[in-house]
Amino acid sequence: MPRRQMRELPYYNSFFQCTSQPAIELAELITSLAPEGISHAFFTGSGSEANDTIVRMVRHFWSVQGQPERFNIIGRLNGYHGSTVAGASLGGMPAMHKQGGLPIAGIHHINQPYWFQDGGDLDPEVFAIQRARELETKILELGPKTVAAFIAEPIQGAGGVIIPPASYWPEIQRICRRYGVLLIVDEVICGFGRTGRWFGSDYFSIEPDIMPVAKGLSSGYLPIGAVMFSRAVAEVLMEQGGELAHGYTYSGHHVCAAVALENVRILQREKIVERVAQDTGPYLRERWLRLAEHPLVGEARIAGLLGAIELVPHKPARDFFPERGKVGAMCRDFALQNGLILRATQDSMLLSPPLVISREQIDELVDKTRLALDQTWRALGRAV
Ligand SMILES: *Cc1c(COP(=O)(O)O)cnc(C)c1O
Repeated sequence: MPRRQMRELPYYNSFFQCTSQPAIELAELITSLAPEGISHAFFTGSGSEANDTIVRMVRHFWSVQGQPERFNIIGRLNGYHGSTVAGASLGGMPAMHKQGGLPIAGIHHINQPYWFQDGGDLDPEVFAIQRARELETKILELGPKTVAAFIAEPIQGAGGVIIPPASYWPEIQRICRRYGVLLIVDEVICGFGRTGRWFGSDYFSIEPDIMPVAKGLSSGYLPIGAVMFSRAVAEVLMEQGGELAHGYTYSGHHVCAAVALENVRILQREKIVERVAQDTGPYLRERWLRLAEHPLVGEARIAGLLGAIELVPHKPARDFFPERGKVGAMCRDFALQNGLILRATQDSMLLSPPLVISREQIDELVDKTRLALDQTWRALGRAV
């Protein structure tokens, strides 16, 4: 398929009423899989580009409706939305904001629903409602008529695979609806099967207005991303917005789109998302959650094939090592020596295996994780 595309027409631009056949077919296919109401796709080269597009798109959306003062966009501390100027601004990584004078104007942040770190004695569901209500507080503080949109990942990925308690998303949805604020759900990690549903929005029953997607769209074989959005947003942009003076040379690149199309078709044909939901996901879940029995593990959490374990010094206290990140790096290095790639974010070990992982490979993955935990425990001077 990609080879055929390469021979037939490797590239032509998507500006000025042009597009490519694979991009048309890809847009049709992914909107058919997306949550109810999502009907359009604008292709980009990456997730960051998708989020840059979104900043301009949502401000333009309000501006053409006579509400240019709806300029503010609210994101979350420790959220991740990419590394370009707008992407890093929407994200809430202090280390990134420090470099390059970010965030850009009109971008604000609220706290994340990270119960393990911040929940104290609160019940997780109560804590999550409190964190969601910070959105309402921020909207009221800025002035409801000045807020264009709220952006969040269904599950924070780069921030440490933070899975919000079940009460979080319905409350966020309610607040966005109440103030007419567009809800942007960043599906760059969750999209295309990671949670055992096609989108993280399906996993949490979210109804997004706009969804950036990337990574899983092509499973990384070639770079491509997209902004997916609702018919309501599309109608305003098309009927009142005139032409959005926006586009990337490689938007809808023929070969990348052909590869993404084939990737999504394979996910469908081989029922890979269903397998995650019904077979490998539950199997991994059962084994992964049992890692919480380890003396070094304060919490194990997982959704589909996306999970984390928190390394702590004094279980069952939810406390942290004095120098955060050091023990996580140790554990990661041990894992690597054992032939297992495990990412560490501070002292959380992150899990995101290929969607085609088999049960045997899951056994190996969990055994090697446990071994790395034992080695770390021993290196810290405690007997296993
Ligand atoms: C990776 C990521 C991005 C950025 O995508 P790039 O393709 O690296 O630009 C944006 N949002 C989320 C949630 C991500 O995980």
